[in-house]
Amino acid sequence: MIKLPDGLHPSTVELVEGFTTALAEKLRSSEIKYGWSDGWKDADWRGKCLADFNHHIDKGDPRDVAAYCAFMWFHGWQTKRLNATAQPVSEGCKWSFDDDGYWESACGGSWVFNDGGPIENECNFCQKCGGKVVLPAAPGGQDD
Ligand SMILES: [Zn+2]
Repeated sequence: MIKLPDGLHPSTVELVEGFTTALAEKLRSSEIKYGWSDGWKDADWRGKCLADFNHHIDKGDPRDVAAYCAFMWFHGWQTKRLNATAQPVSEGCKWSFDDDGYWESACGGSWVFNDGGPIENECNFCQKCGGKVVLPAAPGGQDD
């Protein structure tokens, strides 16, 4: 039933088959326990799916995590958190200026200023991670 690519290592074949069986058994026991069927096919539960997925990561059973991975795989959804938790306040957040006029922060944010840069706008702390803004030495005249 499982289509395996040629040459897959026998140990990995065993892993895939064993895990698939374990996943199917876990899904079946949830169907019985909760009366579920194929509700995972619904297109409108992305947020809940993601929340449950993260819940199961914290809870700890890889079979549950895998079940939600399978659901998301089916829908083409990503596993990353929609509202990424803020990174802890760090020593500093390095900002760099790119040619499109954006300031990119090391923590993954980007900003545009109407006039000047972070210094001129007294932007001393990163609005995303709360770290102190660390600027490059001479970013095209932004240095003071
Ligand atoms: Zn930052």
